[in-house]
Amino acid sequence: MSGQEKIQLAVRGMTCGGCATHVVKALESVPGVQSAVVADWKAGQATLVADAGLDEQTLVTALTAAGYGGAIQRRHPMREGSAPEFSLETPEQPMADSCCAPAAHPMTKPVAVARTANLCPECGQKGKSIDSLTVKAMLSVSLTQVRPVSYLFCGTADCPVVYFSEDGEQAFTTAQVRERVHQKEPNGGDVFVCYCFRHTPDSIRAEWETTGRSTVIDAVNAGIRAGQCACGIRNPQGSCCLGNVRAVVKQVEESTAKA
Ligand SMILES: [Zn+2]
Repeated sequence: MSGQEKIQLAVRGMTCGGCATHVVKALESVPGVQSAVVADWKAGQATLVADAGLDEQTLVTALTAAGYGGAIQRRHPMREGSAPEFSLETPEQPMADSCCAPAAHPMTKPVAVARTANLCPECGQKGKSIDSLTVKAMLSVSLTQVRPVSYLFCGTADCPVVYFSEDGEQAFTTAQVRERVHQKEPNGGDVFVCYCFRHTPDSIRAEWETTGRSTVIDAVNAGIRAGQCACGIRNPQGSCCLGNVRAVVKQVEESTAKA
């Protein structure tokens, strides 16, 4: 055998996870392509493993026929037995939500997308490990959906995914979580930033406007010392809120200084 190549393509025109599925199908229909994956449609990239020497134009033509634009960014030979950077397994089930289907993106069902280690299947950003107890405490859907796998937290503001499984096959969105999530609504004044002691950006701002200072960090620290906090089961990020609270206090301070 003549070996295999790993090829990275820039793909134009993907607007949802359904597009990613179409692109993968189009690429995998090209003779000589072993497998293709779109880890993050927003990044506009596809990665594939193909027989060495595959004609670039056949890939571009396949993409064009599927309604997308494309160009090869990188290609390099794969060594015998070397593992690809990406796992190239495709999802077992087709995407439920797709701009190409009549229903728009409802984002109320778990999404299933190609897997890449620890990257959010929706936004492609690296997730933060989270205890499964936090996931169980925060979900508003039946816990029969929780599988014996590791979950990660996505903190990207414009991404609807709150938790996803490490294998990328399962994602829980804001609609499936009991609390509104500070990271998902950075401008939401009434969304808790401290879930244990119930502080919001609005409450922090109100104190600042009345007294010219903020006691919230001292108050949270006092609560922590008194053993009253329970970030692991109250805060969707599963960890202490102090970093977020400090950022909000700084924002309030800066915006009132400007006013
Ligand atoms: Zn995300």
